[in-house]
Amino acid sequence: MEEFSNSGSGDIVLAIAGRVIENRAYLSEIDGLIGDGDHGVNMAKGFGIAAQRLRDEGQPLSTSLSVLGDVLMSEIGGSMGPLYGLMFSGFAEALEGVAKIDAPAFERMLRKGLAEVQAIGEARVGDKTMIDAYSPALEAFSGALAEGKTFGAALDALAAASEKGRDSTLDLVARLGRASRLGERSRGVLDPGAASCAIILCAFADGAKAKLAEAQ
Ligand code: ADP
Ligand code: MG
Repeated sequence: MEEFSNSGSGDIVLAIAGRVIENRAYLSEIDGLIGDGDHGVNMAKGFGIAAQRLRDEGQPLSTSLSVLGDVLMSEIGGSMGPLYGLMFSGFAEALEGVAKIDAPAFERMLRKGLAEVQAIGEARVGDKTMIDAYSPALEAFSGALAEGKTFGAALDALAAASEKGRDSTLDLVARLGRASRLGERSRGVLDPGAASCAIILCAFADGAKAKLAEAQ
């Protein structure tokens, strides 16, 4: 059975935070091209505060996700604070009380997070937002499971599809958020939210794969 324990996996959130913080300059640079240049700064700030709160705590994954969600919701500026705040709180809610995280539990978590983000943001694939990385990533994860692939292989599919989805935003015109004010001029640049979403999903997939390997 491919699964990992919720209780010993809160450090995945620290690994995700580390990856976001490493990409601070990159994310702000992209946002500078079609937005106001604050995306990396905001994200690094929020994930940094959460990481500090979680350091050495050894919390369950669901608890760590909940702390991250609360921090993003209340302490960072820009559109992404509430959107990522709700996404991570949704992840936390979906995993609460789940002792062993298997592929179906992980899929439910991803689905809940997407529903939360879309409930307030109302973005669809093609609007040039984080959803362009998230939605295909979830589809790839579910599709891999439906084909009988392992949890680990489905995580690889998730990561690859998030990056492909991020890259798809290069040729899109923004229909939502600050970048939509640029109209046609938003084409030819990656969407910063799609870039951060791919970073987060890839880091999450790597963290989950490491836990699966440990559980072997
Ligand atoms: P702001 O635009 O307020 O400066 P950020 O720079 O933190 O906020 O985030 C910009 C990102 O927010 C965009 O790249 C896009 O991916 C995402 N975004 C904007 N509006 C929405 C929405 N309604 N739904 C999902 N994502 C959105
Ligand atoms: Mg911005």
